[in-house]
Amino acid sequence: MPQDRQPPEQELARLKARVQELEAELEQYKGRAGDLDKQLSAERAERQVIESTPPISPTPDLEQTLGRLVKRIAMILQAEKCVFMLHDPEAGELVAQRPAVGLSDEQVKVFRVRATHGASGEAFRDAKPVVLDDAVGDPRTVKENVALLNIRNIATVPLVMETRDEQERVVEKKTIGVLHVFNKRFGGMFSDEDVRLLTIMARQAAAVIASAQLYIELKQEKDKLEATLESILAGVMVVDMKGKVTLVNQAGRRMLGLTQEGEISAPLDEVIPDERIRELVKRSMTSQKESAAEIEVKKPAERVYQGQTTLIRDETGQPTGVVAIFNDISEIRNVERMKSAFVATVSHELRTPLTGIKGFISTLLSDTEGFFDDESRREFYTIIDQECDRLTRLISDLLNVSAIESGRALEVNYTPVDPTSLIEKTVSVQRSYTDKHELRVEIPERLPRIMADEEKLERILTNLMNNATKYSPHGGEVVVRAVREGDSIVVAVRDQGIGVPKDKQTKIFERFERVDTRDTREAGGAGIGLFLVKHMIEAHGGTIGVESEVGNGSTFTFSIPVEPKRAGGGGGSA
Ligand code: ADP
Repeated sequence: MPQDRQPPEQELARLKARVQELEAELEQYKGRAGDLDKQLSAERAERQVIESTPPISPTPDLEQTLGRLVKRIAMILQAEKCVFMLHDPEAGELVAQRPAVGLSDEQVKVFRVRATHGASGEAFRDAKPVVLDDAVGDPRTVKENVALLNIRNIATVPLVMETRDEQERVVEKKTIGVLHVFNKRFGGMFSDEDVRLLTIMARQAAAVIASAQLYIELKQEKDKLEATLESILAGVMVVDMKGKVTLVNQAGRRMLGLTQEGEISAPLDEVIPDERIRELVKRSMTSQKESAAEIEVKKPAERVYQGQTTLIRDETGQPTGVVAIFNDISEIRNVERMKSAFVATVSHELRTPLTGIKGFISTLLSDTEGFFDDESRREFYTIIDQECDRLTRLISDLLNVSAIESGRALEVNYTPVDPTSLIEKTVSVQRSYTDKHELRVEIPERLPRIMADEEKLERILTNLMNNATKYSPHGGEVVVRAVREGDSIVVAVRDQGIGVPKDKQTKIFERFERVDTRDTREAGGAGIGLFLVKHMIEAHGGTIGVESEVGNGSTFTFSIPVEPKRAGGGGGSA
């Protein structure tokens, strides 16, 4: 037994104390192990979260989504800065994108590098991670950027976009940029484990960017399509094969009398009030063929629509829906209707004077015994002469209408005209046609000579006076009043006749437009007089309008400039 050996009691006491010490230490270790265990499982959980997080779903706000992502990457990798760069193929550059962590907007704006340069270029080109512990000294870095962003160390991974097929198999890989983290916190360096994590995060980022880009592109495409659809004049409605209306453009909503705004998604029967339109669509669905129909609607306005449907098919040729297009053909139908009414009235208007002419000539020819005295004969000749004038006027009116319709402007042959004598002459001619009406001229002050086309001016006056007597079947006064107003003379033709309803007061100046009443039908007419009058006045640079009340007469007022307005210069009489 060695000399220094202590007595067994002491030894025992010492050992006991040591055991206690060890026990305390063990407790401590246990606690620390628990801590470590906790830390480990936390890390494990985090990694699991990262690895299993499905790609963040694209929102319209790409920046917001990516903002969350870069923050998360910087936090997990304990990096001071995190930024991703996208490849701009046109510029051949990698361009930093907002949002970034640890970089100002200004820095992001100027941070770009040729796709072949620096750590960014290397990671992009080789589609491999690059880790640099000494960014300042490493020959591979672009020094301005290192200085600009104050970079110490770098971990960079490529952003690879994967295209997958239906079975989730990767069918295409494309590097779209790089993801950087700079400056490991607490003076550390980026480890292999960091790169592994960064690669996982980059995959997510690429997926988000790709889907967000796709989303944005699709949205832009959709917006463009929608704007086009909304702006076209035709009504467009899309119905799926289940009979649900999925789209109606603005024109369509107006035509189909739909009040709801915005997107429509409801069954056809609920959305479309008009049964004929529903039928048109359903016919296409059941027959799987195009169909067409002309649909007259009364509400909200009386219109005629030409509806046409076509099937929409997918790539395999299966019908997926029906698109119906509606064109407003009311005007076309209206003009057609007016034209046929016009042909009927013109034939009538031509036949009436011809019948008169023929009648009087036959009478004169058959009077071989000299039954009619000279005065009667003269009267017949006068009537024949007047009827011939009426025919000539009508034919010349028709020729003028067709000239205006084909876009030819009416020619104005300016000569000096004395309006007072022209008005008096025209009124006295009109007096010879009527004994039911009192025709008066009111010219309160001397009118200046004007530069105008005398023949056209006479036609204008004749036409208005003729209408004034024609549409005053019970007679009454017709007053032609002329005054000077500034640089124009203003002529008003007032009658006490049947008047023009308010809603027709603009229409009657259009071609073939007539107010349809018994009185106007009896009066006869082709509906082109006022159309020509308006054009002749406008050719002079003047205007015409009407004030009237049904049953209380009408006043047609027109102006003609004293001097013709100079064309082109936008000047005219100031
Ligand atoms: P027309 O007299 O040959 O029918 P117009 O173009 O001269 O053709 O006139 C168009 C329509 O305007 C007429 O059909 C008539 O209904 C209405 N109208 C024109 N002048 C008058 C008037 N003085 N009083 C009432 N209605 C008128």
